[in-house]
Amino acid sequence: MNRFEYASAKSTQQAIGMLSSQWGETEIIAGGTDLLSLMKDDVVAPKRVVNIKEIPGLEGVSFDAQKGLRIGALTRLVDIAESPVVKQHYPRLADDVSDAASPQIRNMATIGGNLCQRPRCWYFRNGLGLLGQQDGKSLVKEGDNRYHAILGNEGPALFVSPSTIAPMLVALNAKVRIVGSSGSREVALENFFRIPKSENEREHDLKPNEIVTDILVPPLPAGAKVGNYEVRQKNAFDWPFATAVAFLQMNGSNVQSARIVMGAVAPVPWVSQEAAQALAGKPVNAQTASAAAAASVSKARALSQNGFKIKLAGVAVKRAILTAAGQHVPDIHEEKGGAA
Ligand SMILES: Cc1cc2nc3c(=O)[nH]c(=O)nc-3n(C[C@H](O)[C@H](O)[C@H](O)COP(=O)(O)OP(=O)(O)OC[C@H]3O[C@@H](n4cnc5c(N)ncnc54)[C@H](O)[C@@H]3O)c2cc1C
Repeated sequence: MNRFEYASAKSTQQAIGMLSSQWGETEIIAGGTDLLSLMKDDVVAPKRVVNIKEIPGLEGVSFDAQKGLRIGALTRLVDIAESPVVKQHYPRLADDVSDAASPQIRNMATIGGNLCQRPRCWYFRNGLGLLGQQDGKSLVKEGDNRYHAILGNEGPALFVSPSTIAPMLVALNAKVRIVGSSGSREVALENFFRIPKSENEREHDLKPNEIVTDILVPPLPAGAKVGNYEVRQKNAFDWPFATAVAFLQMNGSNVQSARIVMGAVAPVPWVSQEAAQALAGKPVNAQTASAAAAASVSKARALSQNGFKIKLAGVAVKRAILTAAGQHVPDIHEEKGGAA
């Protein structure tokens, strides 16, 4: 590991002062479950690491019936999954968080770090850059791209957004509060994630000397139903092939409006307008869920080795919609044929 300076901030403002205005020079450390691996593997080599865990007030969960849920950025995943308030008011969020990573990781990892974790793309993790390019050519396009993007993959970024919690929070219309030297701002989580166009950009809207301090989730409106589904290679901790979250605003037995967010398919959590439009005004059943699933991948474009993800992403969308509506979702092996 390279030599680096370690600084521990006692306040958000002090932390901001310790951070550089250039990406790469300094890094924030929270739980460290991602940052330390990146440093050990020489993928990032900051000159200074700024610990934010000693800043008071950045952890904990609170709920207000008018304002909704506030989760401090330093709240550990285990504390969100086990929070009585989250379980009561946002049970799908609690389930989703309890499925992320492993118990050991959830005991260390923070929600702020989860949203800011770097992509798992193996070109990036092997030091070949966020865009995986060499001599102007995309190593991802020419190489092993089984797990790469099928949507939003016009390039040059072809990695997939790694957080399995972000799609749920985007579906729930969450915002993040960000604090920097010029004050604080709130950004819809959907707009927080960005598709970088160059190696100098990151996968989010943060400046190098800004900190995510809170995640704010509005109260669930009456008649809202939420469901999610992850298609995984194995039933153990791992990143999924594809995930989807369906947020359905019902009007009687019909969907008034829907928000369908797909994960692990694009460099950002992918909000599918096509799937939402396919469901609007319809009842939820196997046919309408299949139609929405087909719509969700209608613009997907496979790279050389990841065509199978188009099918799996549709499966995740269909099952998330049926789960939201409380309908039986058969085991993945029971279902035969069909687009999803
Ligand atoms: C084996 C394994 C399995 C995993 N499986 C999953 C999974 O299924 N789903 C999933 O979503 N994740 C998964 N993860 C990733 C894991 O959830 C993240 O590593 C973790 O959430 C990162 O949180 P942290 O607090 O440890 O972040 P750190 O490692 O401390 O930081 C991660 C990044 O975020 C930045 N950062 C941290 N906090 C802030 C902040 N408040 N403001 C601005 N920037 C900040 C850091 O500078 C760094 O770049 C897995 C990880 C492992 C090792």
